[in-house]
This record gives sequence, structure tokens and C-alpha cells, in this order.
Amino acid sequence: MTTFQSSYLELEPRELVRFVLREAGQIDNDAVNPAELLDYLKLAYISFDFTRELPSEIRQRVSSGQPRALLSFGDRLVATDSSLSEPKSRFSVLHEIGHYLLPHHQHTLYVCDDLGMSAWTRLAFEQEANSLAADLMFQGERFSLEANSLPVSAAAVKQLAEKYKASFEATARRLVEKNFRPCMLVVFKQDSGRQVVDPSAAQSWTVKYCVASPSFKLRFFDRVSGSIPAPLLARVAVPGRDIANSVQEKVQVGAATGGEQRRVNAEFFWNTYNVFALLTPEAPDAQG
Ligand SMILES: [Zn+2]
Repeated sequence: MTTFQSSYLELEPRELVRFVLREAGQIDNDAVNPAELLDYLKLAYISFDFTRELPSEIRQRVSSGQPRALLSFGDRLVATDSSLSEPKSRFSVLHEIGHYLLPHHQHTLYVCDDLGMSAWTRLAFEQEANSLAADLMFQGERFSLEANSLPVSAAAVKQLAEKYKASFEATARRLVEKNFRPCMLVVFKQDSGRQVVDPSAAQSWTVKYCVASPSFKLRFFDRVSGSIPAPLLARVAVPGRDIANSVQEKVQVGAATGGEQRRVNAEFFWNTYNVFALLTPEAPDAQG
């Protein structure tokens, strides 16, 4: 008897994103509408308080993080935690759509936590779902074209975040990752120390993570460490300050391996949760 082998159409994630956005009528929208994607995929959606209402047998599927979203293939259902902010809810729904669309993701129950949906997760399936979610959120290649036609600046981050209804942090990361020009985003977090119980103690913000554009990594460095000097912090972290109202500074970056020190332009801004710095080369001709 003759035996044939079957194979399945394997779309690249990029093609998959374009196909789904077009079929769901999203390709001409500024911000993608996750509800219309869910309708197109015939997936139901609910939002509820995961802390109080998530059944314990489902909670146990998550190892260390806080469960924030789930996809049940059998029920064709996506759910998100009602405590999430609007940009995070949108991203979480798109993340679950990512699990649903990616052909080799198991057709079972996904319970995703805040660690898995963070930018630094090491879980391969979570990384893939995050990547597909970001591609959907930022309309595939379109964001990249726009980001490269705008200056590398806090004002551009604000403009694009509002357009795509994404968080400032996700937008700033994408702006740098997709940039042809050399630039780096440094995200600082507030240290939890004495100031938690002593409001008069000095705040300290240290580097949480960095993302660099490919050309920045090649020509300069791929990570910095350190904290923000108090006088600078006092100028940046002002309550009510607009994200586009940034502080420009020259920053000296020392090389950990004993290489030369380098001065870069740094634009500091904050969204009340994190302080950000966009680093670009000091010499204008190195920007191109
Ligand atoms: Zn997931």
C-alpha cells in the first residue's frame, strides 16, 4: 500500500498577523480592537476578579506569578483579571489570541501569569505569545515604519502609545527594538528599602532592564547599570508631570570591562511607575 505524509500550512507569524488583522477588519484602524479579533475567531470573553473567583485547581497551574489571563480551547473562552489596567487587559487578550493562533501551541488550557506575560520571561511559549500579541497590538510592520520616521523621543513614545492604545513602557520598548538608529531604553525601578516605612528617606531608583536597538548594541553597549542621582530624580519624578515633558541630560557611561568611557544624550521621563531614559549617541552624525 502506498503511504502519503500530510503536512500543514505553516505561516510565518508575520504573515499570520497580517492575515488575521485584515480578515478581522483591523488593518486600517489606528489601534487594534481586541473584541473584534475575538469575534472574528469566535472566542467568547469574560473579565473577573482572579484573586477571588479563579478556581483553585486552575490557580495551581501557575507556579510563582499572579494569574492574569487564560484561554480555554474547549470552551472557546478568553478571560482576564479585572484588576488589570486597560493597556494590560488589551495586551493580555492579544497574548491569549497568540496562544490560540500559533499552530504548535497545545490546544488545551493556558493560564498565564504576570511573569509569563512580562518582557523578560524565559518560557518559550510565553515569549512567542507575547511576540505575536505585540505584533497584533502594533499592527505588524506599520509601527516600525512610523517609529523610524519620528525622532527617538519621549514625545514620540507618547504619540505612538496614544495612537495604538498601548502602555508607554511597551511602546517605548517597541520604538527602540524596531529602530534602525542607535538608541537604548533604560527602565529604572524604585528600590524598596527604608523609604517604604520612612517617607523622609531618600528615594533610590536603579536600572531594572535595558533594551537596545540592533545598531546601538553593535556600536556601543547592550546594558548599563546604576541609579539616578537624587537632583536629577527630583526634576524628573514630579507628580502630574506629562510623559512628553522630559529632562535632557548628558550622561557618562563607564565600561564594565575597562574600555573607554562614553558620553551619550539621555532623555529622562516617567509614568509614575517607572523612570525611563532614552539614550542616543552624543555626536549628531552618529544618529543617522
Ligand atoms: Zn501565555
